[in-house]
Amino acid sequence: MSEPAIQNDVSLKQFTTFRCGGPAKLFAEPETEDELLQLLSYAKEKNLETFILGLGSNILVSDEGFDGLVIRIGRKLGDISVEEDEDGAVITAGAGAPLSLLGNTAVKYGLEGAEFCCGIPGSVGGAVFMNAGAYGREIKDIAVSVRYLEKGGIKTMDASDCAFGYRTSVFERKGDCIILGLTVRLAKGDPDKISAYVDELKAKRTTSQPLDVPSAGSTFKRPEGYFAGKLIEDSGLRGFKLDESGAQVSPKHCGFVVNNGGTASAADVMRLIRYVQQTVLDKQGVKIEPEVRLIGKF
Ligand SMILES: Cc1cc2nc3c(=O)[nH]c(=O)nc-3n(C[C@H](O)[C@H](O)[C@H](O)COP(=O)(O)OP(=O)(O)OC[C@H]3O[C@@H](n4cnc5c(N)ncnc54)[C@H](O)[C@@H]3O)c2cc1C
Repeated sequence: MSEPAIQNDVSLKQFTTFRCGGPAKLFAEPETEDELLQLLSYAKEKNLETFILGLGSNILVSDEGFDGLVIRIGRKLGDISVEEDEDGAVITAGAGAPLSLLGNTAVKYGLEGAEFCCGIPGSVGGAVFMNAGAYGREIKDIAVSVRYLEKGGIKTMDASDCAFGYRTSVFERKGDCIILGLTVRLAKGDPDKISAYVDELKAKRTTSQPLDVPSAGSTFKRPEGYFAGKLIEDSGLRGFKLDESGAQVSPKHCGFVVNNGGTASAADVMRLIRYVQQTVLDKQGVKIEPEVRLIGKF
C-alpha cells in the first residue's frame, strides 16, 4: 500500500487562480482514495485542521496561510468513464477531474446539456460543492448522484438529496464531507449544434470576462433580485482600485475583483472586497456577500 507524501510549508499561491495568499503548514495530494483516507487518519491523530482544495478557482487564502493540512484533490483522483446507451450516456467523473474535461468529454460523445461546464475553471468536486453553473444551467441540472466520504465511510447520495441551490449544496452546508465523484446523465444531441453552442459560450465569456487576469471569477454572490456586477457599476466602481497593489474591480466585468500582475496580497484583495461591499451598501442599500470562500484568518 502506498503512503501519501506530506510536504511542509507549501505556498498556496500557485494553487489558486487569484495568485495570492500564504502557505499551507502541511500539504498533500493523494494519488488514491486509500491515501486520502490515510491523510484523514493522520490529521485526526495529530489534531490538525484540514482543508480540501480543488483547482483553487473560488478561494482567497489569507497571507498567513492555513495552519493545518491542505489536501488537494487532483488529477490522480479524476478518472472519467462513459457508459453509452440508446438515449445518451452516463458519465462518471472523479472529483479531481477538471469540470471542463467533463464538459469536453460530453462534447466528444455528442451529448448535450453539459456545455456550460466547458468554461468553468474548477474541479468536479469544487463544482458539486458550489453547485457551479453558467448561462442558465448548473450542476444540479445534470447530476444523478454524488459519491463522497463522510466520517471515514464512502457513501453515495442521489442528486435529489444534495439540496443544490444557488452556489450551494448539502456538502457546502455540512462542511465535513469530501466529494469523490459525480455521475451525470446526458442525452444524445446534434454534435455540430453542441460544438457550436460551446463555441458561443466561450466567445461570450471571452468578450465579457477578464480571463487573462488572476481572479476567482464572480467575487460576489448574486443578491436576490439584483446582479452584483450591475450594483457595483452603478456605485461608480468600474475599474476602481484603492492603491497600486494590483487589486482592482475589473474594468471589463464589475463583478470580478482581479489581481493585476499577481502582485496584490490577499489583504489587498480583501480590503478592496470590503470597500466594494460598504460602497454598494451605502449607495444602493444592498448587502453583497462574497461568493469566493475565505481560507485562513482575515
Ligand atoms: C475566470 C473564472 C470564471 C469562473 N466562472 C464561473 C462560472 O461561470 N460559474 C461558476 O459557478 N463558477 C465560476 N467560477 C468559480 C469556480 O470556478 C467555481 O466555483 C468552481 O466550482 C470551484 O471549483 P474548484 O475546484 O476550483 O474549487 P476550490 O476553489 O478549490 O474550492 C472551493 C470550495 O470547494 C471545496 N471543495 C473543492 N473540492 C472539494 C471536494 N472534492 N470535496 C469537498 N469540498 C471540495 C473547497 O474546500 C472550497 O470550500 C469561475 C472562476 C474563475 C477564476
